[in-house]
Order: sequence, then structure tokens, then C-alpha cells
Amino acid sequence: MKKLMAANWKMYKTRAEAKATAEELVSRIKGKLPEDREVVIAAPYTALATVGAVLEGNAGCSLSAENLYPAEQGAFTGEISPAMLKDVGCTYALAGHSERRSIIGETDELVGEKVAFGLANGLSMILCIGETIDERKAGEVQKVIDRQLEAGLKDVPADFVPETVVVAYEPVWAIGTGEVAGEDEIVEAHGFVRKKLENIFPEKASEIRILYGGSVKPGNCAQIIALDNVDGVLVGGASLEGESFSQIALA
Ligand code: PEP
Repeated sequence: MKKLMAANWKMYKTRAEAKATAEELVSRIKGKLPEDREVVIAAPYTALATVGAVLEGNAGCSLSAENLYPAEQGAFTGEISPAMLKDVGCTYALAGHSERRSIIGETDELVGEKVAFGLANGLSMILCIGETIDERKAGEVQKVIDRQLEAGLKDVPADFVPETVVVAYEPVWAIGTGEVAGEDEIVEAHGFVRKKLENIFPEKASEIRILYGGSVKPGNCAQIIALDNVDGVLVGGASLEGESFSQIALA
């Protein structure tokens, strides 16, 4: 299984800035990315074509959207379909990032529709899950993970290819805060995710990648990806500079 090192640029970067960052990243990892590593950049819609052009032809590098809408086309002002994303070179999309759940108000059900529709339309999907600090304090980590996985994976087509479904466990209190989850907390949560995946997809669960996200940096990435059931990382802040994300990609 290839470790997946994913960048999430959120609502940052003009096209020129995105191009410069992607070029710096590519120049730093070119010829050095191990066979068992994959790098994905999730960029804002306006920068997708630009970043895609930089990544093109670079083995192990793929382009992702940060979101999608679960319909082929139609009167959905402001939304983007999987076909449009594939048209600009995306092979991945995120679904259910905590910022979309908490700021935009996406429900577990809508996130599940996005995952299923993206997969059915040829994208690999990174389903983001994770508890808030209040939920952790209330002892509800497993309950939240269980609910978000159940709804997020509800309509995954039965014949899905395991590499195309990725779960990113991102405790909300660790996103953009500089506070990384402890190793025990990561191992416990990822172990629980794996068990749940085994319940849902008994034959494919071991091949589904589980990423950790939450204040991953060049200095802590190697320890995190060495933990049990950690198959890569999803990185926000530290992915915005080509140099720091290249260190993470090669960690
Ligand atoms: C994220 O946006 O998914 C994320 C994990 O952000 P950060 O790395 O900045 O915590």
C-alpha cells in the first residue's frame, strides 16, 4: 500500500502563487519520491488547472479538489461536478472536511452522497472525519467516528477499488492549532477506524488508507506515519510552502 501524503491548500493562493509552490515542491521531490509514496495536492478550484499542469508527468503526484457536488450537472449555482473536476485533471476529491461541516453546514448525509457520487464518477475520494474538542471531552470519539464513517461510506458502490477510498482522521481540535494528537490518541482512533472499515467492507478494509491530519509538520511527520494504521497524512498549514511540504512528502 502506498503512503499518501496529501496537501490541502484550502482558500489560499492565486494561480501564480499556486504555480510557484507546486513548482518548488516538484523540483524538491523529483527523483526522490519512493515507489511506495503518493503525493496529492488539493488546491482551490481556480488553481486546479495551473497546479495540474505542473504535476503532469511527475510520477506519484496527483491533483485533488477540496470538494464536489453530487450531481452530473444542473441548476446548482456555485457548485462543481466530478466531470468538471476530471476535466481539469483531478483524480481525487476531499469530502467532509471539518471546515465544510462546521462553517458551511454540511451534514453527514450530504458528505456520504459526495463520496458515493465521486466514486461512481471515477474520482478517488478522501473522506474526512474527526471529533471536536467537546466531543472528545464528552468521551464520544468512537461514537463520532462510527457515525461519520457509517454515513460517509453508506452508498459506496459494492465493486469499489480499495485504493480509491481514503479516510482522513482529523481531530478538529488539532486542525490549524499547532496541537498534534498524541501518539496513543492517533493509534487508538486509527485502530477504531480500521475495525469499523472491517465491519463495513470485510474484504477490502486492509487496503483502505487511513490518513492522519492535524498540525502535521516536517518535524513530526516521520513519527506519525510510522504509527500503526497510519497510511499517510493530510496537511493544511505546512503544505502551503513547497519546501516544508517536500520535507513532509519525503519524511
Ligand atoms: C487540514 O486542513 O486538513 C489540516 C490538517 O490542517 P493543519 O495541517 O493546518 O492542521
